[in-house]
Amino acid sequence: MNRIILLGPPGAGKGTQAKRLAQELKIAHISTGDILRQNVKDGTPLGGEAKDFMDRGLLVPDELMAKMLKSRFGEQDIKKGFILDGYPRNIAQAMTLEEIFKAMGLDIDAVIYLDTSEKVIIQRLSGRLVCSKCAANFHVSNMPPKKEGVCDKCQGSLYQRTDDNVETIKKRLEVYNNEVAQLIEYYKKLNKLYRLSADGEAGAVLKEIIALIK
Ligand code: AMP
Repeated sequence: MNRIILLGPPGAGKGTQAKRLAQELKIAHISTGDILRQNVKDGTPLGGEAKDFMDRGLLVPDELMAKMLKSRFGEQDIKKGFILDGYPRNIAQAMTLEEIFKAMGLDIDAVIYLDTSEKVIIQRLSGRLVCSKCAANFHVSNMPPKKEGVCDKCQGSLYQRTDDNVETIKKRLEVYNNEVAQLIEYYKKLNKLYRLSADGEAGAVLKEIIALIK
């Protein structure tokens, strides 16, 4: 299995797991959130259009996302396989994905749903730290960097995402809960859905995911 979608609420650990899995399986990691944040940082037109939605915890419009995703899937590294993190977020996006795959003659191998309790989500997001250079994730207590404020991997400086505040986290969860049931049903019907609990420590969850894939 090397064409994988990770589904789960914000704070499920999709980014952390996807980065490690991509390394382990030597496949591409596509995080739509990371791509958007990079665009905001670089001041691109896409970043300009997306920023306000992101700051409010809302979904960036589907058409913008579709354009961004089509362009990403046009890159060469996709051929060795990929792990998709943060997309699709609703049924319309799942349809767009299907269209892209159809045109490329690809199919998804597995959709892994990371079940996470609300208590764990809030704890993880409110303590999350992100590297401004390589986008690696840390956590003030669960996964602290070796040196405070500095990325272990590339020495970039760590920051707290502007949308990781209690008010925006609540909005993001509400948006997520409104859309996820339909997505779960959709992938269940296609016999692609695998569920596992992601409340545990990151290393243990990764082992479970790898066992499932293999
Ligand atoms: P994430 O890093 O996945 O938590 O995404 C951060 C923010 O980026 C979200 O709250 C949305 O505003 C936006 N975003 C990321 N992925 C998508 C997507 N597939 N569709 C719409 N908006 C997205």
